[in-house]
Amino acid sequence: MSEPAVGPPSSLLDLPPARARDRLHAWATGRGLPAYRAGQVARRLWTAPVASWADATELPAALRAELADVFPLPRLCADVVQRSADGTVKFLWRLSDGEAIESVLIPSGNRRTLCISSQAGCALRCSFCATGRMGFRRNLSAFEIAGQVRETVLRNPSDKPTNVVFMGMGEPLLNWPAVDTALSVLNAPDGFGIGARHITVSTVGILPGLASFAARPEQFRLAISLHAPTSMQRLGIMPIEKKYALDAVLEAARAFRKRVTFEYVMIAGVNDAPADADALARLARRLGALVNILPLHPGGAPDLTPTSPQAIAAFADRLRHQGVEATVRRSRGLDIDAACGQLRVETERRRRHAAPAVGI
Ligand code: SF4
Repeated sequence: MSEPAVGPPSSLLDLPPARARDRLHAWATGRGLPAYRAGQVARRLWTAPVASWADATELPAALRAELADVFPLPRLCADVVQRSADGTVKFLWRLSDGEAIESVLIPSGNRRTLCISSQAGCALRCSFCATGRMGFRRNLSAFEIAGQVRETVLRNPSDKPTNVVFMGMGEPLLNWPAVDTALSVLNAPDGFGIGARHITVSTVGILPGLASFAARPEQFRLAISLHAPTSMQRLGIMPIEKKYALDAVLEAARAFRKRVTFEYVMIAGVNDAPADADALARLARRLGALVNILPLHPGGAPDLTPTSPQAIAAFADRLRHQGVEATVRRSRGLDIDAACGQLRVETERRRRHAAPAVGI
């Protein structure tokens, strides 16, 4: 892989909460401020976030002005917000350099799952994915990743996610240093305090990144984007199979020693035959993995055909008959551009068409 492109400069929001607190503590002590001020300021980063220091009205006005100078709070700008009739909300965030990334908030009963991005674009070019077709733009900073949660909370505190999944744009394990810090922000009590079991990193199986992720002591969840039960079939839809082959990925997932989920997007005539279900069941049983079946979002890959709902149900039943726990995820947000990467692609296309013609 080539060197990752560098994102914007770092701020307090790019640090794990404990390091941000230490930095604030050192700064406050150096200014002769009372020790409790550092804690007061730190909770405004993630726990009770403010859009700007001016809103932290429990602090003296002079201190707020100074904080704005020394520790500016970066923001993600909500460029487009789409609400689906089923309650799904899709955000297109504009970053400081003009890049755009997506998050999707999926409410379901008492759960609110936020699907977040870890890169702008993606280099891996899975054939069923709109993000893959746009190519890689750059890695996100830790703030730009955890900031998707922060902005969602700033917009509406009651939307604070109970669960976070790294299943938006990009391959999280190709941006491990920033994802590593973002995981701390999401999970730490002085970050968002979301339980590790409610945070899932989804990966195609980047082996070095998997080893780093497995080394974290928390019980974060791992999802493997499997999408095909054999190496040959996987190669047809996921070019990364050439570099990190299915067997090696499964071996690394086994070493993870935590509950693993296989993500499996159903594509008609590609991976949805009864023999595919049987091969998938064998792999899942080997790892004790749960299989999460995803209908192909029709907007995500115009050249591929989604498997019918009846065939998806039969496929899931076939897995269950072989002792595999299988869930079929509802395709949410069908009335909005909810396939990963689709909102950015559509927004850019609409803007291009709306732009006045230039030329002679
Ligand atoms: S499915 Fe994930 S890894 Fe594959 S191209 Fe899309 S964003 Fe990248």
